[in-house]
Order: sequence, then C-alpha cells, then structure tokens
Amino acid sequence: MEDLAALAIEASGCPRCDLSLTRTQVVFGDGDPHADLLLVGEGPGAEEDRLGVPFVGRSGQLLTRLVEEEVGLARSRCYTTNTVKCRPPGNRDPKPAEAAACAPWLERQLDLIAPEVVVTFGNVATRRLLGTKEGITALRGRTHPWRGVTLVPTFHPAAALRGGPTVVAAVREDLARARAVLERRGIEREPDPDGEPMT
Ligand code: URA
Repeated sequence: MEDLAALAIEASGCPRCDLSLTRTQVVFGDGDPHADLLLVGEGPGAEEDRLGVPFVGRSGQLLTRLVEEEVGLARSRCYTTNTVKCRPPGNRDPKPAEAAACAPWLERQLDLIAPEVVVTFGNVATRRLLGTKEGITALRGRTHPWRGVTLVPTFHPAAALRGGPTVVAAVREDLARARAVLERRGIEREPDPDGEPMT
C-alpha cells in the first residue's frame, strides 16, 4: 500500500507545472502521517522553499502558536501542507492552472492521512478545496461538511500578522471550532509539556 513517505519521494521530482522550473525543492508536507487535523495553506514562501518544510517563516510561527493554544495540539501531531507544493516566484498567488496541476498530490495526501478535520488558511486554499469563488470573510466562522470530513476555513496567518488583534481573534475562534469537532470525535488535547493543566 502507498504511504506518505513514498508519495513524497514521487512528488519530489514533479514536473507538472512551471513552478518546478523556479523552485529550490518541492515542499510536500510535514507532520503526523495519521493526523486527525490537516492544516492547508496557500503555497511555500522563501523560507519554506529553502528548508523544504511548510510554514516555517513568520506566519508559520504564528500558526504553530495559535494551533497549540486553541486546538491543544503540537504541530508534530498535525499534518501541514499547501495547495501548491512549490514556491510561486515573488510569493504571488498560485495561478489556477498551477493549483489544478498540483491538486492530485493533495488528494492523495488526504486519502492517506484520512483526517477528521481540515483547516484551510486564506482565500486560495479555502476556495480551492470548497470549489467556490466566495471569499474567506464570508466562508469563515462556521464549519463546512466536505468529503466526509469537517472543513474549517480561517484567515491566513500572514493576514493575521498584517491585520492585528481582530484578525488573530477570528483565527482563534475558528481554531476553537476545529477543537470542538475533534473533541466531539473523542480526540484529546495532548498534555502540556510544562505540566500546566490546559484550560
Ligand atoms: N504561507 C503558506 O501559505 N504556506 C507556507 O507554507 C508558508 C507561508
């Protein structure tokens, strides 16, 4: 049976769109291959392209902190990836044709990981997965049944860095929604490494 590590090796040579010509490497995904929570962003930035790991730059640090605080899971217990696996030059939005060419990788990741909840960060990931042109402001704030799992859209952490406390509060609220779904399915928070009880 195919596993995620084998899929990552296959993806590492992907030639399916022109992003393959400018990338340093494919940023396939990172985390627990059996995660209950899948986090999906837009596309790798400069740091991610350099290190080969999604969400390691400034917005990734914020994402990690908010997921830990609101969902109660370390990043290592989630799986993190992007709608496109290669960096769009200059951090532009991925083109629809690039996202379409890359979609089969995300589909196969989803099949193998089989998460309970998918959180999409920002317009690009949310529109792509839900197949809609509606914007994130309209789509967030509620859960969406999607392919047998629960999809929770929220603002991109880069928008939260730019937008300040109001946007951060909205992301926290959406992540708490994801936490509530996981709790209903009996999925526990992980113990706080400092031994403090999590509230
Ligand atoms: N922004 C994204 O959407 N994904 C990353 O991996 C990093 C920044």
